[in-house]
Amino acid sequence: MSEKKSKGQERYDELAYEKKNYFTVASKEERKAIFDYAEGYKTFLDNAKTEREACEVAVKMAKDAGFTEYKFGDKLGAGDKKYFVNRGKSVVVFRVGTKNLEEDGFRLIASHIDAPRVDIKQNPLYEEAGLCFLKTHYYGGIKKYQWTTIPLALHGVVVLKNGKKVEIKVGEDPADPVFYIDDLLPHLGAEQMAKGGAKIIEGEQLNVVVGSMPYDDEKVEKKIKLTVLNILNEKYGMCEEDFISAELSAVPAYPARDIGFDRALIGAYGHDDRVCAYPALTAVLNNESEHTVVAMLVDKEEIGSEGNTGMQSRIYSDLLEDICEAMGASFRKTRYVSKCLSSDVTAAYDPNFASVYERMNSAMLACGTCMNKFTGARGKSGSNDANAEFVGEVRAMFESDGVVWQTAELGKVDAGGGGTVAKYLANLNIDTVDLGVPVISMHAPWELISKADLYSNYRAFIAFMK
Ligand code: MN
Ligand code: MN
Repeated sequence: MSEKKSKGQERYDELAYEKKNYFTVASKEERKAIFDYAEGYKTFLDNAKTEREACEVAVKMAKDAGFTEYKFGDKLGAGDKKYFVNRGKSVVVFRVGTKNLEEDGFRLIASHIDAPRVDIKQNPLYEEAGLCFLKTHYYGGIKKYQWTTIPLALHGVVVLKNGKKVEIKVGEDPADPVFYIDDLLPHLGAEQMAKGGAKIIEGEQLNVVVGSMPYDDEKVEKKIKLTVLNILNEKYGMCEEDFISAELSAVPAYPARDIGFDRALIGAYGHDDRVCAYPALTAVLNNESEHTVVAMLVDKEEIGSEGNTGMQSRIYSDLLEDICEAMGASFRKTRYVSKCLSSDVTAAYDPNFASVYERMNSAMLACGTCMNKFTGARGKSGSNDANAEFVGEVRAMFESDGVVWQTAELGKVDAGGGGTVAKYLANLNIDTVDLGVPVISMHAPWELISKADLYSNYRAFIAFMK
């Protein structure tokens, strides 16, 4: 039997704030929706391991939802559903609303579709001691030792001497071979294990095993290299020099899987940041709001949002400006009243590494998508610190739509830090705040998220666009 609450306890419950685990407050229908939504996400993950593939899958989903391609200078009208592809590596999906752009602005969600990985060098192929390898240069912030002794797939494109572009994707089909980066056996690992974690495996040791069988010709010196070159030539029409104009990446070969007896978690490569990109995309595709809604799925976040496919490129503001022009609106006025969620993952509190977190301001798994008012490091440096007014506005949107969500910082003060694309959007004079899914083991070959947080993120986007 429960005792009657004291006056003080009642008052406390009324005034105090506590995070809620989404599962504990979700109705039976909502629990089902949480699990159903995760199925589509897992399929997306398995088909979109690089930014090029994510872009391609997003375009296909957009087309299926009745969206058509937009090019600079095209005409636009209310209700138009469009996608804009940037060099095959980033994509912007948008729907023109009925509200006046200059008065209402854009409702933007920006997330990224590149993920940490191991890129193949431009002159990579060599044979040594019975093995043939590809040399690599890793992409993004990784713990190098985590990328050894796991099955790897090769994804990417090669532009051949004749200008033809061929696609390579080996290691995803169960019938495919996979690739491998080796590590040292513990029996001989004493010297290695005495090193710091950053040096256990060094960058130039991340060489990918791609062959071991000598070509059947006594006269040839590099027989295994020739075996590999011969296969590449027969399958893709390429020769060694073509690696120069290739973008090939080694990524984990395993698919997304449910984790735990209750299946409430998902383990996968590249949750960062597809766990935000997929909800952003589906929220726009399923949108019926009167606002002009935009999802930007961009490239190069993991290496500083540089280049003409990264968030710092002019192409994104050019596109927004172009949309304004097509609608007869001033971009200057429109962006000033626009609102943006910079949607990227954050660190979930990890009880096995509690010392780097400050629990009160940590993202707790399954407590919903997470707002980071600021990111950055060493005194918020390098961060977009959102205005309290805008945070209040977004908070009200979530409240009125019953979104279960939370706020956090990435780790305890001075433990480290990180950044997102938020500041580049804010620099355009758009109100922006970070919101995204908490991740455990971020940037590892296999990351972990909660299905509740994934669905909460989607619900938050729908609320934001209403
Ligand atoms: Mn990210
Ligand atoms: Mn990242």
